[in-house]
Amino acid sequence: MTTSRQFPDCVAYYDPNALPVNAAQDIVRQWAAPRGHAPSERVSLFDALDRVLAEDVISPIDVPSHDNSAMDGYAFAGASLGGVRELSLTVAGTALAGRPFLDTPGATQCVRIMTGALIPPGCDTVVPQESVSREGDTILFATDALQPGQNRRLAGEDLARGRPALRAGRIVRASDLGLLASLGIAEVAVRRRLRVAFFSTGDELRSVGEELTAGSVYDSNRYTLFAMLRRLNVEPIDLGIVRDDRASLEKALRHATETADVVISSGGVSVGDADFTRELMNSLGDVAFWKIAMRPGRPLAFGRLWSGPRAGEGESALFFGLPGNPVAVMATFYFIVREALLALSGATREALCTIRATSTEPIRKRAGRTEFQRGIASRDDDGHFHVVTTGPQGSGVLSSMSEANCFIVLEHERGDIDVGDSVDILPFDGLI
Ligand code: AMP
Ligand code: MG
Repeated sequence: MTTSRQFPDCVAYYDPNALPVNAAQDIVRQWAAPRGHAPSERVSLFDALDRVLAEDVISPIDVPSHDNSAMDGYAFAGASLGGVRELSLTVAGTALAGRPFLDTPGATQCVRIMTGALIPPGCDTVVPQESVSREGDTILFATDALQPGQNRRLAGEDLARGRPALRAGRIVRASDLGLLASLGIAEVAVRRRLRVAFFSTGDELRSVGEELTAGSVYDSNRYTLFAMLRRLNVEPIDLGIVRDDRASLEKALRHATETADVVISSGGVSVGDADFTRELMNSLGDVAFWKIAMRPGRPLAFGRLWSGPRAGEGESALFFGLPGNPVAVMATFYFIVREALLALSGATREALCTIRATSTEPIRKRAGRTEFQRGIASRDDDGHFHVVTTGPQGSGVLSSMSEANCFIVLEHERGDIDVGDSVDILPFDGLI
């Protein structure tokens, strides 16, 4: 490994030529811990979706603001349930949502009440309308299925005034926008969006719109990266294609480091690549070159770059040098980069949710590396998940990602998979 000046000691415990995925994840996580004060801004609710909350949101009110009915039915004093098998009450009036019944009904009275209407004074229980028989202004119902206080929503039951309704680090979801609105909150403090610069390297690369000559390929990685970054709601900064020469790469890296919080490149980090890549990255910062024990996605450069004349001077940015192969770019992004971007964005860490599925085919797998195969999962009538691979798993076969609906995550120690074996799958839905 190219040595790094400041990498935590943990790197030293592993062979950088076969770094297990979880070790790489741990190291990246340590380095991606937000440093210092993170800038924030206030945005209105509609602009807050998918942003990271910068501070706890304290509920300024009780929700619901008053005790109210959870059912359409009749409100009465629950104390009258004691000692009788059937209760007969007369209807003293009606309470509707937004139109309360303000008097206190007598001991043998009840109030016709609709869902959401305030519980009238002296009442604490609601009998659902389908449990009563009504004749004129009198209702009759059995008491055995009813407890005092039933079918009543208590004030503050959903959110209590003065308590945190949402925590800092929360990525604001649809329900959160509604929840904030239910508190009467019009704007919230969110973290500044992370700026992520990305570029592709390679003399063979052509941009869409250019002519493809013999030996050249269209640059697809920038598009995949752009899309994956957008999904994480960071600010993507497209720096185009950079040719395989020292001057171009140095210029791109310095510019990216000045502009962005994180720099992601693809290609040019394999063993066969020009030594200037490594030299350059080391002169610009602390960069380690790893061969991660994962497939796809073996070679990866990771560290911190500086825009100044020497490491430690000028602006700094976290750097990920991803492999060039299109599927390897996606796998390393999801399993190595993604969490770092979320952490740097200030988001609270949430584990990805895998599902157990049965493999309906044998899968070749070499022990000693984690494999992220592309799978097509389906659920049978009993609710069990089954999975097959998309076929050829070459790290250049980008169509395998488009065809798949999940990653099949085959753990480090595991060998070949037989038909009927259980495997973990990670659905794309929500991830991709
Ligand atoms: P490298 O890691 O630079 O050796 O690239 C590995 C393989 O990925 C080569 O076949 C490259 O042509 C291909 N590749 C690299 N960058 C890209 C890109 N941006 N888009 C599509 N293919 C790429
Ligand atoms: Mg290359």
